[in-house]
Amino acid sequence: MIAVKDLWKRHGKLDVLRGISFDVPKGEVDAIIGPSGGGKSTFLRCLNGLEPFQGGVVRVGELTLTPETTARKDARLLEAVRRKVGFVFQQFNLFPHLTVLQNCTEAPLRVLGEPPDIAAARATALLQRVGLGEKLQAWPRDLSGGQQQRVAIARTLAMRPEVILFDEPTSALDPVMAGEVLAVMSDLAKDGQTMVVVTHSMQFARQVATRVHVFAGGHDVEHGPPAQVFGDPQHEVTKSFLKIAAH
Ligand code: ADP
Ligand code: MG
Repeated sequence: MIAVKDLWKRHGKLDVLRGISFDVPKGEVDAIIGPSGGGKSTFLRCLNGLEPFQGGVVRVGELTLTPETTARKDARLLEAVRRKVGFVFQQFNLFPHLTVLQNCTEAPLRVLGEPPDIAAARATALLQRVGLGEKLQAWPRDLSGGQQQRVAIARTLAMRPEVILFDEPTSALDPVMAGEVLAVMSDLAKDGQTMVVVTHSMQFARQVATRVHVFAGGHDVEHGPPAQVFGDPQHEVTKSFLKIAAH
């Protein structure tokens, strides 16, 4: 579904990504862990065309992003990529002036051209699925952080993305709310949703991911099934990171 080959990304003189190759087959959940500054967020942003990059290629289905297409901000291509690839941010980014339901119907109405009754019915079903069937008419500001993040997930699902990228979706939440969001994500994973998840939750990476990647210094230093990466880490970076993450 996503195939990344030798991706290089520079910010000024800093090489933020140094030759990342990374495949995400359909139905797989790839977790990315690793120390702050390692390039995890930048990598996700390159996958849906939010960042230009200087080397390599990103394939999303039949679409191809290259240094040339990202530099010239090919609007048609970027829009097509973003339709396939949903993004859930740490800070939710809900529309404050729209109700919970409207947050989830806005893009389907405007971008997909769905009829209003169908958009509303689908959004209602998705909000029920994330446990917010009682909050359809609420305003984002009246919800807890965990509830807002679940709305953000429903809003992303409403666009029927083929892949969803999550960038530390629970790091702004207390443990109870984080658990609620992770439960929704586990449910999506069981349902076969293809996902790439940057996370601080070692428990999620261990229990839900098909594969775990460790990013550090712009490299994917180690990846494999969770049992292997957590049970028998090979790289020094992984060993020291897991020691810190355990506390
Ligand atoms: P992570 O998500 O793993 O913490 P990031 O992808 O956010 O890492 O950042 C990787 C590196 O790139 C860091 O050194 C960061 O300071 C740098 N960086 C990220 N965005 C920019 C930017 N817009 N301009 C300059 N440097 C940046
Ligand atoms: Mg980050």
